[in-house]
Amino acid sequence: MHILITGGAGFIGSHLADALLRRGDSVSVLDNLSTGSVDNIRRLQEHPGFSFTHGGVDDGPALDRLASQADAIVHLAAAVGVQLILEQPTKTIETNVLGTHALLGAARRYGCQTLIASTSEVYGKSEALPFSEDGDLVLGPPDRTRWVYAATKLLDEFLALAAHKESGLPLTIMRLFNVVGPRQTGRFGMVLPRFVNQALRGQPLTVYGDGSQTRCFCHVSDVVRAMVALLDQTTKSGQIYNIGSNHEVTIRELAEFIIDRADSTSSIRYLPYDEAYLAGFEDLRRRVPDISKIDAEIGWTPTYLLPKILDDMIAYERESAT
Ligand code: UDP
Repeated sequence: MHILITGGAGFIGSHLADALLRRGDSVSVLDNLSTGSVDNIRRLQEHPGFSFTHGGVDDGPALDRLASQADAIVHLAAAVGVQLILEQPTKTIETNVLGTHALLGAARRYGCQTLIASTSEVYGKSEALPFSEDGDLVLGPPDRTRWVYAATKLLDEFLALAAHKESGLPLTIMRLFNVVGPRQTGRFGMVLPRFVNQALRGQPLTVYGDGSQTRCFCHVSDVVRAMVALLDQTTKSGQIYNIGSNHEVTIRELAEFIIDRADSTSSIRYLPYDEAYLAGFEDLRRRVPDISKIDAEIGWTPTYLLPKILDDMIAYERESAT
């Protein structure tokens, strides 16, 4: 198969490109390098089945050319990271909504099987844990900028399902839950690479709030395995799947665990939300996926537990620092 990955120079996309090339597919990547990096795909440039185009999904001719050559598209290009979204809400809306609209247009023109990356953020403040794909979504008011990301991704889901219903486009939506692993950068706010970096430098780990909020972290290798299986699964279309771990940890425990695993002398510094983000920031207390649907459909469950995830990230950061 020939697969186009938008955002393929990013953290998740570059791991997906690795996996697809390894099993004999060919891959083209379209990435504007806004948050992705050439370093992530440098080794792949030599591969005969790989090509890289520097551009965004708003580059109509490039997108059209690449889609015309592809059997399938995995759409990962998006504005990501809480910090970035708070700083650039207009750009976030344009990138996420107009980008996905353009992508779906190209996929429809060439009948490409399409995987759309969505996010656990769409569940918002729902308290119906664990979050199930058919559950209600509870977003905060629009004057709280953090909800921009969830709202744009939700609109992407509506656009994608409409394209599927109206033109029979073979399509799958993936709601990703706190994906972590090597190559992830802490520059855009993600907690795990930030903590690992702070621990390795002997700096205090900055826990926002009191650290009692929880998350479930899923290793990128598990996530990529789910994506590859969804590409292979062509019988069910127009479906939404949660992809994530259901092993819940508080952010305070996470910080303690990282200090221990990295053998670090760092302390923990608690930072009020108003100092960490903008005043009035609403953090999510808990976030846990129900993954029974994807397990039933393609037999996917995550295999990496937190100790192995942390060891992988610590090893990667140590190596990158040398
Ligand atoms: N967080 C933290 N310190 C940091 C970055 C994030 O305590 O340096 C917290 C953040 O407030 C949230 C959790 O860690 O409760 C996960 O944040 P992240 O941005 O990684 O992902 P989110 O789940 O919020 O999308």
